[in-house]
Amino acid sequence: MPQRATKIVATLGPASSDPALLEAMIRAGVNVVRLNFSHGKAQDHVDRANLVREAAQRAGREVGIMADLQGPKIRVGKFAEGKVQLEPGQPFVLDASRTEPGDIAGVGLDYKELPRDVKAGDTLLLNDGLIVMTVDKVVGDAVHTTVKLGGELSNNKGINKQGGGLTAPALTAKDMEDIKTAMSLHADYVAVSFPKNATDMELARQLCNMAAAPYGHKPGLIAKIERAEAIPELENILRVSDGIMVARGDLAVEVGNAAVPGLQKHMIKMARHMDKVVITATQMMESMIVNPVPTRAEVSDVANAVLDGTDAVMLSAETAAGKYPLETVQQMAAICQEAEKTEYDPLEDDFIGQTFTRIDHAIAMGALFTAHHLKAKAIVALTESGSTALWMSRHSVRMPIFAVTSKLATQRRMTLFRNVRPLLVGTSADRDTALADAEADLKKRGVMQSGDVYAITVGEPMGRPGGSNTLKICKAG
Ligand code: PGA
Ligand code: MN
Repeated sequence: MPQRATKIVATLGPASSDPALLEAMIRAGVNVVRLNFSHGKAQDHVDRANLVREAAQRAGREVGIMADLQGPKIRVGKFAEGKVQLEPGQPFVLDASRTEPGDIAGVGLDYKELPRDVKAGDTLLLNDGLIVMTVDKVVGDAVHTTVKLGGELSNNKGINKQGGGLTAPALTAKDMEDIKTAMSLHADYVAVSFPKNATDMELARQLCNMAAAPYGHKPGLIAKIERAEAIPELENILRVSDGIMVARGDLAVEVGNAAVPGLQKHMIKMARHMDKVVITATQMMESMIVNPVPTRAEVSDVANAVLDGTDAVMLSAETAAGKYPLETVQQMAAICQEAEKTEYDPLEDDFIGQTFTRIDHAIAMGALFTAHHLKAKAIVALTESGSTALWMSRHSVRMPIFAVTSKLATQRRMTLFRNVRPLLVGTSADRDTALADAEADLKKRGVMQSGDVYAITVGEPMGRPGGSNTLKICKAG
């Protein structure tokens, strides 16, 4: 059985904090864990990160850590009775200056800017779109609405505006504190919630780099695409980020459910084309929160994300709060592996019209193309920064890419790259030793046998990032 190419991101929570279970989940295929800063205290995340590093060590795998920031809370306030039952056609007032608890006529707002962000005729979606209201008028701080789709509305439920347009800044004071926590635990990736444009991501980058500097660390940045405004800005956002998340939960509420599958394909394609990583997220195995098997539709959803070319598929409540966290990971891994057997588009098609201006990029593409045509067993990239492996992994080939690095941070960063198996080795002073060591290491791990043909890339002089300049085709001795 070939190794699985698609990576699995699992959100941690109460259902996945037991050390033995965590280890089993990692053995079953979790490549990256997501710490969701919307829940829990700073110390919970620090404790979980330690558990993950220990469990990964016991399992003999490297696991990446992604800190997912909460972002702006666009929410209603609290109700006197905890909740109300809204009926279609009834009036309801969302009032930013209301201080007393809510009732059937209206409720206060955590998000004080709402009255300035909306106007008569706008549609508001509450509680992930389960409740729909139209705005009749805005009087001072009060948004007067009529309920279109009724239901139960409880404390602190989220508000989205159809078509986007809420002005809340992407980074809150809480996010800035959480970034410090995330950097203290050396999170490999930081996911930014609700960015509108590249500027939001650049600000996040500055804050992360500042907080990470004392640890000699630099995280990768993932933009969660979950606002309508982010769609036309996708290319600009990608340019300044290391990757994106197709955050289908909030995105679907803003752009409508039906638009999401097409957007998912577009986003994955654009991310890969721009040499960025992409995670497909939310409700992938939703029914497994309570059931031991997924629905047919969920199986198809995961498989289609794999066929779209996603780097990773993500689990949220399934592993954070579900009844079957281990089984969910096992089944997701099996679905990915099966989907990967589907015929790929010819590699040549990807290269049409492409030009390579950088030596290291040209070497990476040359290695990929050559290995593919030689039907080599594997590609091996000796990489300091991870970029050689990233470039190679933006194209679909069947042979695995072994990314050999002496930098732990690079190894962990590469846990998210599709079809890349990141391996950590000691540093070597010269090229011949490095090549011999890499081959010996791969043979020891059982992934390469005597006689196997493989392509290997390396940069001379050794140990300089961005220096790949040599391609060698080898036959394992
Ligand atoms: P969330 O983001 O789980 O933090 O809301 C993902 C999404 O909106 O799909
Ligand atoms: Mn979201």
